[in-house]
Amino acid sequence: MADTTKIINCPACGKEMVKIYMPEQKCNLDVCVNGCGGIYFDNREFEKFDEQHENIDEIIETLKDKNFIEVDQSKTRICPVCGGNMVKNFSSVHRKIEIDECYFCGGKFLDNDELIKIREEYPTETERSADLLKILGAQGNSLEFNQNNPASKLFNSLFRK
Ligand SMILES: [Zn+2]
Ligand SMILES: [Zn+2]
Repeated sequence: MADTTKIINCPACGKEMVKIYMPEQKCNLDVCVNGCGGIYFDNREFEKFDEQHENIDEIIETLKDKNFIEVDQSKTRICPVCGGNMVKNFSSVHRKIEIDECYFCGGKFLDNDELIKIREEYPTETERSADLLKILGAQGNSLEFNQNNPASKLFNSLFRK
């Protein structure tokens, strides 16, 4: 989905979100600057921001030294782009950080400190994948993941770009 240009309301606190242009990724992010500090990512945007080498200075600059309102984590959130119910999912196999995802349009919503935590969990996508493979291996899955293996391709299409 293309970068949405309409102003959306925060799925966590309802405040109007502010568009922050991210020059490295060449897209806008919707940030809840005047409410809870959450960030909404359009479909496919999130993967441009979840690794440590990816530049998020504008986000850090925008969110720093601000007090954000508390939000109810237990409430089901409604996707501000398509109106679908968002679903809480763990961001990784460590099951530490829960993010809201919209299965209808692919949007994701992160509370204000979650992006930093996710980036700290895995410095690179390679390490994220390796960790997932370890878990698959521990569950008795003996598939070999090399570049030319069909299972590897499926894996990549599911979990990577
Ligand atoms: Zn908010
Ligand atoms: Zn949606």
